[in-house]
Amino acid sequence: MNRFEFIRNSILSIMGITNLTELEKLASELSPVDHKMPAFFMGHGSPMNGIEQNNFSNEWKNSVKNIPKPRAIICISAHWETKGSKITAMENPKTIHDFGGFPDELFKVQYPAKGNPLIAKELNTLNSQYPIALDHEWGLDHGCWTVIRHMYPNANIPVLQLSIDYTKDMNYHYQLGKAISILRSKGILFIGSGNMVHNLGRVAWNRLNERNYGFDWAIEMNQLFKTKIKNADHQSLVNYKSLSKSALLAIPTAEHYIPLLYILGMQGAKEDVSFFNDECVGGSLTMTSVKIA
Ligand code: ZN
Repeated sequence: MNRFEFIRNSILSIMGITNLTELEKLASELSPVDHKMPAFFMGHGSPMNGIEQNNFSNEWKNSVKNIPKPRAIICISAHWETKGSKITAMENPKTIHDFGGFPDELFKVQYPAKGNPLIAKELNTLNSQYPIALDHEWGLDHGCWTVIRHMYPNANIPVLQLSIDYTKDMNYHYQLGKAISILRSKGILFIGSGNMVHNLGRVAWNRLNERNYGFDWAIEMNQLFKTKIKNADHQSLVNYKSLSKSALLAIPTAEHYIPLLYILGMQGAKEDVSFFNDECVGGSLTMTSVKIA
């Protein structure tokens, strides 16, 4: 081995890459593409949406009809909170059934999308100000697969999950979204999955099947969120507690709201927003979803 080969191999081994083919694969997977992928915030609601063909799941399916095929998806789900940010780094993420009291049919669902350890590594080394650790334990939770299986039923796009660091404030999540949005120009489709208005303690269980049923405060907050998003008033959305007296009813805990902040952080100056699934469910949830492109 000559000096050049020694140095090259040393660098590759530091990167965890053992041969040149892997390096070439990394380069081709992460080289810039000539389009910027959109970014979505999806209101996911009940896990049953994962197996139902309804208005919500139809819109998820339609959302990808006119966009380029992504190289991979990175999903920020309300249902994965950790100390420190983590990115799933396994080849084959397992399907996680993180719910109880639902029919067997839902527990039987497998979503066999591949992961992508090279893209995980790219996130891991992207920005030292926003450390993201590699995770080999998690997989795809229901915030992720119940939505994505309607978008890509053949599970032919690799899917990674980025966790929510519960020790960080709202602005951190917004800024982290901004920091990683560069990957949108490298064929990565980001999906934040949560619900803007999400108060399970107040659900009107007897009115769950009533289309677009929302309590006054839920309707008020849904309208306010949309106005602020439309006006790109992100600072108000980061400081959501000062928006209205109803804000704490809409967001008693922030985990379903935080994925929205990641997606807003990714909005470029000239990009537009559009809404779909703009409906309340059971009084105290909204399915309102956002596309940035
Ligand atoms: Zn949820």
